[in-house]
Amino acid sequence: MTDTDTLEVFRSSEALLEGHFRLTSGLHSANYFQCAKVLQYPAHAELLCRHIADHFRAFDVSAVIAPALGGIVVGQEVARLLGVRSMFTERKEQIMQLRRGFEVRRGERILVCEDVITTGGSVREVIEIVNNFGGVVAGVGVIVDRSGGTAQFENLFAAMTMQVVTYKPDECPLCADGIPVVRPGSRTGT
Ligand SMILES: [Zn+2]
Repeated sequence: MTDTDTLEVFRSSEALLEGHFRLTSGLHSANYFQCAKVLQYPAHAELLCRHIADHFRAFDVSAVIAPALGGIVVGQEVARLLGVRSMFTERKEQIMQLRRGFEVRRGERILVCEDVITTGGSVREVIEIVNNFGGVVAGVGVIVDRSGGTAQFENLFAAMTMQVVTYKPDECPLCADGIPVVRPGSRTGT
């Protein structure tokens, strides 16, 4: 599958949004990927996650771990395809934590999964948790890398890489045109 084919899956799922968006980073953009819209179709989730699973099949991992919420579906599907267990981390009072009785065993080889990385901040926090438990991060598998190469992880694999044009609010041509800026997803009330 090429980036073009993956992009077509995104388009057909109406996950590739066009408009005027304020990203989590505070930057503005005319495009936004709503990964959840693709992953709501289990067949699409399987298709995309199979690339990640196939890539890491020889990496001898015994578990997958993903940051909530976005990463959970990806982690679950990749783990299913690899036949290993699936865990997730979550934020409590801003701190990323491993809860619910999940355990990373000392020396255990773990694959970190995420839906979309922009700065890679959440993935970095998950890696730190795995390291703190004495686990070994075998790699990082994501559906979309839109960091433009700035999120650098050892053994990073993305089903799709995407260069997203962003603007500082005071330099944004869409703001200059008076187009209302929205947070991604807010148009549908989420
Ligand atoms: Zn703007």
